[in-house]
Amino acid sequence: MAKLKKLLAHWLGIEKQSPYVQNYFYAANMRASIYMSIVVIVLEVWMIIRMTRSIIEKHTQYKFWENVDSYYSNYLILLSAGLLMLTMAVRFVTGKQWVRWIGLLAAVFSAPVCVFEVWMISKYKPGAVDSHELQNYVILLSAGILMILFSVLALRKNREQKWENMTVMYIFSFVCINFGIILSAHAYERGEQILTFLTMELFVICLLIWKPLIGFLVLTGSYLIFFGRLGTLVAFNTGTVGITESTQINGFTMWLSTLMFCIANYNKTLSQALKDEHLEKMNAHLSEISIKDELTGIHNMLYFRTEAERLLGYVTTDRESIIYLFMDIENFKSYNEKYGFHAGNEVLIQIANAIETCFKGSLVSRFSDDHFVVLTRKDGCMEKIARISEEIKKCQREVHLELKCGAYQPVGDEADPSLACDRARFACNSIKKHYDRSFRYYDKSLEDKFQLKQYIVNNIDNAIENGYIKVYYQPVVSTETGKICGLEALARWQDPNYGLLPPGAFIEILEEYRQIYKLDRYIIEQVCRDYVESVKTGQPFVPVSLNFSRLDFELCDIVGHLTETVQRYQVPKEYMEIEITESALTDQQDFLPEAIRKLRKNGYNVWLDDFGSGYSSLNVLKDYQFDVLKIDMKFLSGFESNKKTMPIIKNIISLTQQLEMISLTEGVETQEQFAFLRSIGCNRAQGYLFGKPMPLAELRERIRNGLIAVAPEFLNA
Ligand code: C2E
Ligand code: CA
Ligand code: CA
Repeated sequence: MAKLKKLLAHWLGIEKQSPYVQNYFYAANMRASIYMSIVVIVLEVWMIIRMTRSIIEKHTQYKFWENVDSYYSNYLILLSAGLLMLTMAVRFVTGKQWVRWIGLLAAVFSAPVCVFEVWMISKYKPGAVDSHELQNYVILLSAGILMILFSVLALRKNREQKWENMTVMYIFSFVCINFGIILSAHAYERGEQILTFLTMELFVICLLIWKPLIGFLVLTGSYLIFFGRLGTLVAFNTGTVGITESTQINGFTMWLSTLMFCIANYNKTLSQALKDEHLEKMNAHLSEISIKDELTGIHNMLYFRTEAERLLGYVTTDRESIIYLFMDIENFKSYNEKYGFHAGNEVLIQIANAIETCFKGSLVSRFSDDHFVVLTRKDGCMEKIARISEEIKKCQREVHLELKCGAYQPVGDEADPSLACDRARFACNSIKKHYDRSFRYYDKSLEDKFQLKQYIVNNIDNAIENGYIKVYYQPVVSTETGKICGLEALARWQDPNYGLLPPGAFIEILEEYRQIYKLDRYIIEQVCRDYVESVKTGQPFVPVSLNFSRLDFELCDIVGHLTETVQRYQVPKEYMEIEITESALTDQQDFLPEAIRKLRKNGYNVWLDDFGSGYSSLNVLKDYQFDVLKIDMKFLSGFESNKKTMPIIKNIISLTQQLEMISLTEGVETQEQFAFLRSIGCNRAQGYLFGKPMPLAELRERIRNGLIAVAPEFLNA
């Protein structure tokens, strides 16, 4: 039953439509009204001219008032309705305000008609004239009054209202149909065709879009009135009262086909409106998600950048008072590790909300991970940051969370938000791990460092191409013999502008900008070349360990690249070993364990670098399989003063023995340290005691000079 009701409602077009669809119909009708009113205006002007000419030519001036009654007043009302409709529709479609003055013409033309109709009504005597005439006087008078009223209403600037426009459209349609009925009735009496009525019906019903039910009512009503009226007239051709059968059939056919067209027109427009609405919604949704951060619901960087650019583009923006803030939650990573991603996300949402609330009215976005940026006014900024800091402390459980904030104030007419955010971020990063500082301005001393950072990011490709990247080798010795049994390949950047840059100056930056794989791939290539060259020149060569960044596995197929390069240079796999730093393995990632397995399966030794430097060293040992365990140099740093150092290292060594791994301690600087390591059974040692990282040529020189020896098994590689 409900379904039937729905279907019927759909058929009749009386179902509830969304505001979008309603407006779509409204706009379509307004556009159609422009065409319709123009045609009507042209037609009526022509009719008036024709009529006047005929009066003058035929000298029928004595019939003037008769003509006003039957024709002029109808022409003028229709002309007025057309003008008013045109005014409303053009204003709606183009937004042009001056068109409202055209509407005033409608009042000018309607006024004499009104006066005339009042006069005619006052003269009217029942029985003397046809009652249809009286009807027409009243209709024309009412239409004239309404037209004057609406054209005055339309004079108000910017006050175009839907109901007014719609009412004018109805009046216009009504006047059109009435005109059709009157003129065709006259024509019928004269034995002419009833074309005006049919044309007006087509105009109103087919150009404008009506709901089927309303279309049906308008159409049927007007047909009944028209044919009812014809029925009372004496037809010219038959000389009798009433309409002929063929006129009836023709009328019915016209009625039916116009109705069908009306329904089809409605349905076509409706389906277009629904389609458009759907698209519009999709678009709105898309643009919503394209500017919102998915997790926290606050804006994302796309939005931030465009809005910031816009804001800075205004001449009225006081540049002196604005500031970029970059916020970072220290220890958030540990929080995530300890409580899981879900809990971490909850905290991020809470923090994002806190920042947005504190900086209400400012531009706030999530930069990435646990980083947020704000573009705001300087005044009151510190208090707001302090409030956020408090909010963050509320979120912490056992992991100490702390807000770090860097600030950058743009200079002059600088307008690049990305660069400004980068600078604020740089200031923020500079106070990371400084437990006594939580805020820093980007200042001159940071500027120089920042320039270097920009330089590195922009020049890594260039540096690789031009051979500025060098491989330095640091010896690894066997504790048993004190002879070299391995080399660690460490990158150096020999820059023409900045001189020799240590990895500390560029590794982290390359990782941050996800460029590190370029360097690591280049180092593989260089080491292979050095191997080939050594073999060619009959020099000894020992296995080299390469440092792989965690990101290498993510950013490229580093294992595939290694395999390919090693094959290309025909380097035995035993000569290539891979160091993966412990901290890389504490992130929850699926591809790393798999990559490590693959490396080992392919015949490479994999080392665990910097063991003991992170939080979850023992877990890493439990979960992964390594060939060599490299004990972080911080264990040896307190060797002389800290009594606990020795037992700790001793225990780690015995652990590696139990797990059947080779042990290596790095950072060995004194003979005492070396003697101790040997005494507890540590297999290998590395450190300044045996040599700093150095170019291959220098290493060979040292070997030649007998400062250090190579283990015998590698002497003739
Ligand atoms: P790492 O892998 O832990 O490398 C050992 C670092 O300790 C080297 O610093 C080395 O010069 C230094 N070192 C060695 N023995 C001693 C010692 O007895 N005392 C002291 N105080 N330091 C010693 P370097 O060459 O500056 O490298 C720093 C870090 O940069 C490396 O730490 C490694 O993580 C990274 N790195 C270097 N080259 C590359 C590379 O090609 N790719 C990647 N991904 N990372 C690299
Ligand atoms: Ca290393
Ligand atoms: Ca290390």
